[in-house]
Amino acid sequence: MPVFDSQVIFGQEDDHPHEECGVIGIFAPNEDVARMTFFGLYALQHRGQEAAGMAVADGKSMSIYKGVGLVSHVFTPNAMTDLNGHYAIGHTRYSTTGSSSLRNAQPFMIETIHGPLALAHNGNLINSAELRNELMGQGVGFSSSSDTEVMTMMLARNGEGTWEERIQHAMRKWVGAYSVVILTRDCVYAVRDPWGFRPLCIGLLPGGGHAVASETGALQTLGCEAIRDVKPGEIVSLSNSALKVMQAVSPAEPSAMCVFEHIYFARPDQTWDGINVHQARQRLGEELAREIDEQMGNEYGDVVIPVPDSSVPAAIGFSHVSRIPYNDGFIKNRYVGRTFIEPTDSLRKRGVALKFNVINENIRDKRVVMIDDSIVRGNTTGPLIKLLRNAGAREVHVAITCPPIAHPCFMGVDMGKHDDLIAHKRTVDEIREYVGADSLYFLSVDGMMRALKRTDGFCQACFTGRYPIPVNLSSVKTGFERVMK
Ligand code: SF4
Repeated sequence: MPVFDSQVIFGQEDDHPHEECGVIGIFAPNEDVARMTFFGLYALQHRGQEAAGMAVADGKSMSIYKGVGLVSHVFTPNAMTDLNGHYAIGHTRYSTTGSSSLRNAQPFMIETIHGPLALAHNGNLINSAELRNELMGQGVGFSSSSDTEVMTMMLARNGEGTWEERIQHAMRKWVGAYSVVILTRDCVYAVRDPWGFRPLCIGLLPGGGHAVASETGALQTLGCEAIRDVKPGEIVSLSNSALKVMQAVSPAEPSAMCVFEHIYFARPDQTWDGINVHQARQRLGEELAREIDEQMGNEYGDVVIPVPDSSVPAAIGFSHVSRIPYNDGFIKNRYVGRTFIEPTDSLRKRGVALKFNVINENIRDKRVVMIDDSIVRGNTTGPLIKLLRNAGAREVHVAITCPPIAHPCFMGVDMGKHDDLIAHKRTVDEIREYVGADSLYFLSVDGMMRALKRTDGFCQACFTGRYPIPVNLSSVKTGFERVMK
């Protein structure tokens, strides 16, 4: 049995996949778009806490401001005084290390022969290395290691025609996941890859104009109505009272929306393609309870508890079907973020206990069913179980609302390489033994799809190893490798 206390590294006690970014774009005549973009980014903070930025245009010129840290730290009133105009794009980023953080912060802005251009991207181009080499062979230099800079340079170099035509030309060469917002001096463009990997939605602002964002919650924060998805392969132009929509490349059939948006990334108020995230998570819990009940009956637990916050809806659904009462077991410190203050050695040993406290009275002498949304490296499940046992739990059963993650993501999500993934190296029973659970269950792929009420249309590659786009495993970087460079 591993000794978890000493294995948990402070700052890495979060064993979830990590989304790389949130994006927003706004055209709002007669409004202070920088301020609106700030509040939109604020609503997208959960999609990236490492860096934030925005670029604003007024029809003639463009200004940009970006920095390392949370949205509210980067954008002080002083920082926003020069961000004037009616057109804006913004970005929250996860994640880079050390000195490369600011260099890779977005948007990227450059001056082109067609005027200023800025771009912010959520996703990962799997052919970025080839495109970058091609551009370097043509004499183009780069200031960062980001595929977003590659995309920006491609747009700058594409020849005559309109911006829509230049973007369409580039989309024919971009392979991978991209939900992109592009700013010129007098237009915001919203662009989504033909597979629809990452979300992007658009809404009508109450004072006129439109906003586009990674999640509907950010649009609701801005008061948007008539929200719809930017469809796979579309370019939507925001520069007028009416949207201009162009189907620039044919959508893939079927689409490949990242299923992890529903399992973990998105805020529960988000709705895509008619599926609300909170309700989907509740159904994931219900399906999991049905699958476990078939094997165990429903006499294995006294209380169902979620690992907060993302597992709360699933635990409610699980309790509903299993008829095992729901209660809170962990209290999460919601104000824990990234910190550059190193803990003392004695605090470091407390690992997840710095982030979670147990309500002993709800746990003592109980057979606890702990619901979590995923196990990636397997470094937090054991410490959480240990907290429950220290609080007097008689048994701890763990139920995970997705299948085992055995394959890396190449479409912009940081979940490690093959060797980092515990389900790539161990069987379910070996994982159970490693984390010290009395039993361990993962939802099946079929159960997951039943919960989403779809038979296809979602990427499931991290569970099945079947990638929607052919991937050369030896040359494409995973999200983990990208963020560590
Ligand atoms: S591999 Fe997994 S994390 Fe990556 S896009 Fe597909 S479903 Fe999402």
